Amino acid sequence: MIEFEERTIKVIIDDSKCLDCKTHVCAEACKTYDRGILVIKDGKPTPAGDAEFTKRVGTECLACEYECWFRGNKAIKIEVPIPELDEYRRKHGLT
Ligand code: SF4
Repeated sequence: MIEFEERTIKVIIDDSKCLDCKTHVCAEACKTYDRGILVIKDGKPTPAGDAEFTKRVGTECLACEYECWFRGNKAIKIEVPIPELDEYRRKHGLT
């Protein structure tokens, strides 16, 4: 399992699904829509820098998850915490 954080999100990759991936599209999407913080190394995606690098450089675009879901092996899950969501739902009668 590969995990790294950007400013507010956490990217979790089940890399056991990556070795037989035919597209490695996560890195292509990252290069196209983010700043290329995800690269392929030894057949698996990996951050191109340390924890400080991914927090500083990542744009939180979510493209890697989207593309992996549709053209990869559905290996990426991104957690996007929304601290005020419970309060918002309560306020608008959505609970
Ligand atoms: S596209 Fe998905 S399955 Fe393919 S290498 Fe990237 S994370 Fe792994």
